[in-house]
Amino acid sequence: MIIRERLEEREDLLHPRAARSRNARKQREEKKSPVRTEFQRDRDRILHSKAFRRLKRKTQVFISPEGDHYRTRLTHTLEVSQISRTIARALNLNEDLTEAIALGHDLGHTPFGHAGERVLDGLSSTGFRHYLQSLRVVDRIEYHGKGLNLTDPVRDGIVCHSKGKGAILSPGDPDMPATLEGQVVRISDIIAYVNHDIDDAIRAGMITREEIPDKTRSLLGDTFARRIDTIVKDVIYRSLDVELSHIAVSPAILTSLEQMRDFLFEKVYWVKGSQIELEKIEHILTTIHRHISINPAPYIHPWPDEDNEELRIIDFIAGMTDNYALNLFKRIVTPRYRF
Ligand code: MG
Repeated sequence: MIIRERLEEREDLLHPRAARSRNARKQREEKKSPVRTEFQRDRDRILHSKAFRRLKRKTQVFISPEGDHYRTRLTHTLEVSQISRTIARALNLNEDLTEAIALGHDLGHTPFGHAGERVLDGLSSTGFRHYLQSLRVVDRIEYHGKGLNLTDPVRDGIVCHSKGKGAILSPGDPDMPATLEGQVVRISDIIAYVNHDIDDAIRAGMITREEIPDKTRSLLGDTFARRIDTIVKDVIYRSLDVELSHIAVSPAILTSLEQMRDFLFEKVYWVKGSQIELEKIEHILTTIHRHISINPAPYIHPWPDEDNEELRIIDFIAGMTDNYALNLFKRIVTPRYRF
């Protein structure tokens, strides 16, 4: 028997509402692997992609942090993956699918985090959203314009992961992921970022532990580890209570998560002075955009079925790491010739 078929049979032991790789539709027909399921293969393709490697130098909250202990977009992604796999395994869901979605969810992030995203949204005539770009990275940009040819449940989980300041988990919301595994990643993303962003903001001296809202501290615990542990267990038990009709979280814990998110917006993301930093980022990315638009040839390589050039320039800038953008900006604005 082919090993992959044995692995697919093992998936039959998962919860009835778990996703199965056997019937997952792909963008293009492709010969199956003899030793890996389609979800395993999707996960591996994401992990080996160039966009994944670039996450190590993209901002989570702090731009090119000097301290080695601050999160980057890569460590954030790995924390989301770890939390979501814990929940998926406890609920007997498809861990490979969960991992693939988690590792791919933030591939479309720009340099300089959400500030960079806002600038690119202004520069692109069609607008820019990181979650749509994450899908574009796996569908189109990777593998020299051919894309990674992933399965639909992975693509759906990637494009539906984001909640901005909106509802975290509300059944019936048309933007919710189609699979339970996608819903697990959606909640794990916020569990990871509110907790590690608070941890990093304390490390940076922007806030103190005592400033975290009292109700949150008493309900979730006083340390990073306790808070994650409390929330993850709540998600697991509440989801079992509703027999996995959806991924659930108790109202009190949900309120605490929202409070922590609001607290971060107020004290960390939108702090006084950040307007000046935003203007710098706008200046850097706008300068780069103008420079490449005038002279695209050294930067934009031909693709099969060429997309329009404006889109390719936005793709290229969105793909940059913080360091790449800063270095390119310096090269553009530094005079090189004598008069
Ligand atoms: Mg994320």
